Amino acid sequence: MSGKFISLAAPGVQQLKPYLPGKPVEELERELGISGSIKLASNENPLGPSSKAVAATAKVLNTVNYYPDGSAYKLSEALAEKHKVEPSWVTLGNGSNDVLELIARAFLTAEHSAVFSEYAFAVYPIVTQAIGAKSIVAKAYEETHAMPYGHDLDAMFNAIEDKTRIIFIANPNNPTGTWLDISALSEFLNKVPTDVIVVLDEAYYEYMPDDLKPESNALLKQFSNLVLTRTFSKMYGLAGMRIGYAVSNPEIADLLNRVRQPFNANLLAQEAALAALSDTNHIQRSIDLNASGLEQLSSGFNKLGLKYIPSIGNFITVNVNCDALPVYDALLREGVIVRPVANYNLPRHLRITVGNKEQNERVLNALKKVLAL
Ligand SMILES: *Cc1c(COP(=O)(O)O)cnc(C)c1O
Repeated sequence: MSGKFISLAAPGVQQLKPYLPGKPVEELERELGISGSIKLASNENPLGPSSKAVAATAKVLNTVNYYPDGSAYKLSEALAEKHKVEPSWVTLGNGSNDVLELIARAFLTAEHSAVFSEYAFAVYPIVTQAIGAKSIVAKAYEETHAMPYGHDLDAMFNAIEDKTRIIFIANPNNPTGTWLDISALSEFLNKVPTDVIVVLDEAYYEYMPDDLKPESNALLKQFSNLVLTRTFSKMYGLAGMRIGYAVSNPEIADLLNRVRQPFNANLLAQEAALAALSDTNHIQRSIDLNASGLEQLSSGFNKLGLKYIPSIGNFITVNVNCDALPVYDALLREGVIVRPVANYNLPRHLRITVGNKEQNERVLNALKKVLAL
């Protein structure tokens, strides 16, 4: 590359580092000439998608010559009912990544800033930077805190400046798996100026134990500057479909809809999501499998003498006690794909998605072998 075009790019884009996705199984197997690998790198549902979602998708496959319903009428109605709001509160996205970007585009300019925590989800700095807005990174809790590496809401509050337009909060957070105290969250929402949009990213909400789940729907009614984001990529097992959404007061939803591409939620994804919402059997099995898998992985790490960050997501981030990159590479050669998190400033940790029982056993055995424990 000649470097001719970089100076032409928007200032924010010049500095942008692309998101690093998990390595696909096909890519690893092509590179190493191996087979039978497993991927525990992108927090995907090991049960697969809901069979109802697959059937619903198959039923409309022969109508994809038509554009999708740009207003996603049926899905918006169903989500509105789920969140006890009117459909005008719902904004659909091509994954919740898309929604996060819509929020940034609607509210940030080069003069504004967004606040998020150290170790927070990588998409927050990306969408902020792409616009050329300022990222303000609040200190997270120390490793020795009861919630190691977790969001410190006091630090986040103190980081707010006059020009701050957005605060991104992930609960639970990826890649740490850490969560927020419910009363600390509502105290925080009470304090934050109402002209700052608070984005509460609940990509892993369904996995949270009931007693740790905030009453997000009630918070929406209480705080008009709150935007919830949710996804069908994790517990619902539809990551490849790309469908997520925001719930917010209609004035914010209207602004998000102004920057939204007209058909960002595709026809197949709308049907799949609608069917997945009502597949209570798949939902329960997914939640149960994750709970037992979290147990299995954490007790496995305990036996190996490895420290991990407490998690209530569908992944767990473990300290391998050395530079994690060579460990990641060695695991690849064992046919096990996990996620290095050095880009999150956690160079000695690996994030491991909770798989099914066999997959969890396999990653534990592979870790034992490559770390010679
Ligand atoms: C996975 C994830 C998302 C959702 O991504 P999609 O675009 O919906 O697939 C959002 N936030 C966090 C914190 C995540 O980990």
